[in-house]
Amino acid sequence: MGHLYDILIIGGGPAGYTSALYAARAGFDTVVLEKAAAGGQMALTGEIDNYPGFEKGVDGFTLGMKMQQGAQRFGAKTEYTEVTAVDFSGKIKKVKTASGDFQGKTVIISTGANPRGLGLPEEPGLTGRGVHYCAHCDGRFYKGKTVVVVGGGNSAAADALYLSRLAKQVYVVHRRDTLRATKVYHAPLRHAKNVTILWNSIVTELTADDKLTGIKIQDVETGAVRELACDGVFVSIGRKPATDFLANAVELDASGYVSADESTRTNIAGVYAVGDVRTKPLRQIVTAVSDGAVAVHYAEKYLAGNEGALCPPYET
Ligand code: NAP
Repeated sequence: MGHLYDILIIGGGPAGYTSALYAARAGFDTVVLEKAAAGGQMALTGEIDNYPGFEKGVDGFTLGMKMQQGAQRFGAKTEYTEVTAVDFSGKIKKVKTASGDFQGKTVIISTGANPRGLGLPEEPGLTGRGVHYCAHCDGRFYKGKTVVVVGGGNSAAADALYLSRLAKQVYVVHRRDTLRATKVYHAPLRHAKNVTILWNSIVTELTADDKLTGIKIQDVETGAVRELACDGVFVSIGRKPATDFLANAVELDASGYVSADESTRTNIAGVYAVGDVRTKPLRQIVTAVSDGAVAVHYAEKYLAGNEGALCPPYET
């Protein structure tokens, strides 16, 4: 049998490394399995203004490294490898990775969620150079400029309203003739003087020189294609939780997020879900780091054999 960790954390974003900090600091033998670099989605964000303690803001990559170093200071290890499958059926939780098998007495899932892309060939090369997936993170680069929001759900509506307070003009490109977004957004969007909704429309091409210069839009009813000059495109067509490797090992909600309440406990004893991968109302760095602390609180009780005494979900 290989090494048995007390707390095995899958994913090294803010929720994962906060879990690692709390776990290692409490004296638990802790490992983080991370497939790329510390910070997760956060590491791709140029400047973060809404994480407290950084009066001038901080870039996501630096914050990710700092979170990792903070956990390492207390002995948390990181293994750079991708988890491909899990087996939570026994008391010892097994995790299969590209570079071998790992075992933990408890597992904290912190793999996050990735924004859905448009699937256009030029999209990866323009990401961060005109194409964005988080209006609250990157909207401030477009003060007085023209931006496009793609999508018609609550996120797209909220993004369009947020951007309307910064940008000169906001176009919402939606593939149908009605919004999916709840009614509460309809009137504010209608009344925003600088928001125009382009109905029944899809983006077929992103045009660029060294950065984005515009988009081509197709009317899905007539097939007609037209060009629209813009400085930025915010893709807001939903997110996909990173849960493929879980198969049926834990319960997921209807959207594919791991079912867990504010206690972060899943339907499997000793397995916790933290950060963006969990069912939750607000996916932010501050809510992710909070989950990490809560998960270790419950893991500690589980490891001490007294989780059964808890009164879920708000035992203190
Ligand atoms: P969503 O509700 O799934 O909406 C996605 C939108 O993108 C839909 O309008 C969809 O069009 C469109 N879309 C999907 N794939 C597309 C593609 N390939 N090309 C063009 N358009 C595409 O996702 P979301 O807005 O990110 O919201 C996610 C969840 O968070 C939802 O449950 C939402 O209610 C919640 N949320 C709530 C609030 C709030 O204020 N309470 C704010 C943000 C998010 P169709 O409509 O045609 O399917």
